Amino acid sequence: MPNVDRLTGRCACGRVSYAAEGPFRDGLACHCETCRRQSGHFIVATAVEPGKLDVTEAGELAWYQATPEARRGFCRKCGSLLFWEPKERTHTAIMLGSVDDPGDISLIGHIFVREKGAYYEIADGLPQRDTE
Ligand SMILES: [Zn+2]
Repeated sequence: MPNVDRLTGRCACGRVSYAAEGPFRDGLACHCETCRRQSGHFIVATAVEPGKLDVTEAGELAWYQATPEARRGFCRKCGSLLFWEPKERTHTAIMLGSVDDPGDISLIGHIFVREKGAYYEIADGLPQRDTE
């Protein structure tokens, strides 16, 4: 588990910012079709327990019901993808590219690999699986 107590981050234009308290999950790359289409490639995210994400500037935060089971938080002004949250609120995923300083949080694996784009290979040697 990463040795990070607190993270801050923001969207590209700065109209949405947040702070989050640990513990933080290690980074996972999600290659599912939804993440692929919305990000234009694939996403890498950490995650926090329920209630540990504090959106400090939420003026332009919007939520898109990406699947029947989950919604994605993004900035409606600049389009940055920021959060992913299952309906059951078991955790909130935070896109690592939006984090100011991820500390020792690093990418440890790939999920939903079966749905990945056909135009690239995953060649970093990290574990891959076809599910979450
Ligand atoms: Zn923005």
